Parts: sequence; structure tokens; C-alpha cells
Amino acid sequence: AKRDGFGTYRFYAPEMNEHIASRRVLEADLRRALQRGEFVLHYQPRFDAHSMRITSAEALVRWLAPSGGLVRPAEFIPLAEEIGLIVPLGEWVLHTACAAAVQWGTIGVSVNVSPAQVRSGDLTATVERALRETGLSPDRLELELTEGVLLEDTDRARDTLAALKRLGVRLALDDFGTGYSSLGYIRRFPFDAIKIDKQFVADMATTRGSRAIVQSILGLGKALGMSVTAEGVETAEQLMLLRLDGCDEVQGFYASPPRDQAVIAGLVQAQAPA
Ligand code: C2E
Ligand code: CA
Ligand code: CA
Ligand code: CA
Repeated sequence: AKRDGFGTYRFYAPEMNEHIASRRVLEADLRRALQRGEFVLHYQPRFDAHSMRITSAEALVRWLAPSGGLVRPAEFIPLAEEIGLIVPLGEWVLHTACAAAVQWGTIGVSVNVSPAQVRSGDLTATVERALRETGLSPDRLELELTEGVLLEDTDRARDTLAALKRLGVRLALDDFGTGYSSLGYIRRFPFDAIKIDKQFVADMATTRGSRAIVQSILGLGKALGMSVTAEGVETAEQLMLLRLDGCDEVQGFYASPPRDQAVIAGLVQAQAPA
């Protein structure tokens, strides 16, 4: 786990009392982290599966903790959601990611959105403000939502997604295939794109069932006119199979891990103009 540059932030003590105490410590640390500017974004490029040109990059948040370690989102996003910090943190992510895309010039940017941000009720205003303040064209911003967003409060989710569409941003259904009723949602909500969850990509070269699922998601995407991205592509063989099966775009360690903004800028600059 160290090879990806992450440290661990040990806040789960073995005993319950310590657990609660250290949870409070983490909570306070997290709130302070936003004020102190300790969050950073890395960006993972997404590539056209055939030309391997970068089409966009996904913002992935990390916490550069005072201890010096880089903390992965799985270790703090759930608590940030619980204590409501995800709303201001998400706003910072949106603003920072849009500003990065303006710097890059051509490619798009994707931002992950938590259910709590949709629930907060002012996601549309926040997105609108991020676009206005950075000057990013709405069609270059894509929001990645999981079906958790849709499960919680269907009417609110539908209204919010419709309002976001009116702003002109793109909507992607993230982690497709891992939930319970993705098929129903894909029909009822205005998604432009699907991201095939990496668990199916991981063993598509070795497990017939996984490849069949990937193929059927690709077929569904085609039939519904959505673009499909495969995430978690780690090998040349997976990439080859995805190309054969007609996948539009790929993301994963094979082509590029998440990188900082300047590295993405360099990669984009090195691409010949389209
Ligand atoms: P996700 O949106 O599904 O993001 C993809 C995760 O897979 C990222 O982990 C990425 O680093 C990792 N990944 C990329 N390529 C590969 C690969 O080839 N193999 C494998 N095994 N993994 C790969 P990361 O950065 O740790 O993010 C984890 C999750 O945290 C994200 O999953 C997303 O749900 C959440 N997250 C990250 N940033 C944000 C954010 O700004 N806001 C919100 N609400 N959630 C975020
Ligand atoms: Ca995502
Ligand atoms: Ca995903
Ligand atoms: Ca995920």
C-alpha cells in the first residue's frame, strides 16, 4: 500500500473509548484542515481508448496531514460526510478543479459528488458559482455521482440533476454495476456517461462473467447514447479487451495514476493539437 505514496492516519484505536476520543480528534483535525488549506487534489487522466489522447481528468482529493502523511479519501470522506464537512470541502474541490481545467486549456475535468452534497440543497448554486468564478465552460465539467445519491431522496435528486443539466454540465454515473438498481436509474435520470466499476475490469481478462458484464454495460451505454469509461485499467490485456469490446474511454494505473495539476498540464501540452 505504500508504493502509491500514501501514509496511514491511525485514528481507530483498538479500544472503544480510545476509538471515540480519536474520532473526535480526527473530526477536529479535519475541520481545521479545510481552514488551513491542507487538502490537495490529484487528477487522474481519462484517455480515448483508441487514440490514447487525454480527454479529461478526474479530481481526487487527498489530505496532506500535519504529520506529513498523504491521507487517502477512504479514510476521511465518510467522516466528512457524517459531520457535514463534505459540503464546504466539496465546494473547494469544485472550485479548485474548475480552475485547474481552465489552466489546462482544452481537456475536461470530472468531480466526485457525495450524496450529502445533493442533500444539502445548494449544489446547483455551488456549481454555478464555481463555473462563474473560474470562467470554465460548463460542458467541460462532469459530475460523477454514485447511485447512492439517487437512492436517498429521489425527487430532490431528480430536481437537482435536472437543474445541473440546465447549467450545461455533464453527469456521469460512477461505480456502475456495484449497486442494486442501476438499470432503473440509468433510465430515469439524465446521465451522459457511465463509469464501469473497476471490480469488473479487474478480472475481465480472467473471468468470463466479468467480461460479459463489461460487454453488456458497453452495449447498454451504446443503446442509450451514453459514453462509457472503464476505470481501474491496470494491464495492456485489459486495455486490449476493452478496445475490442468497443469501450470509449479508459482510466487506470496502466495509462496513468492520479498526478498533480502541473503534471497533467505537461501531459496535455505534450499532446499534439486535436
Ligand atoms: P472513485 O471515484 O471510484 O475513484 C477511483 C479510485 O480508484 C481512486 O481512488 C483512484 O486513485 C483509484 N484508481 C485509479 N486507477 C486505478 C487502478 O488502475 N487500479 C486501482 N485498484 N485503483 C485505481 P482514491 O483517489 O483513493 O479515491 C477513492 C474514492 O474516494 C473515490 O472513488 C471517490 O468515491 C472518493 N473521492 C475521491 N475524491 C473525492 C472528492 O473530491 N469528493 C468526494 N465526494 N469523493 C471523493
Ligand atoms: Ca469517480
Ligand atoms: Ca468509480
Ligand atoms: Ca468508488
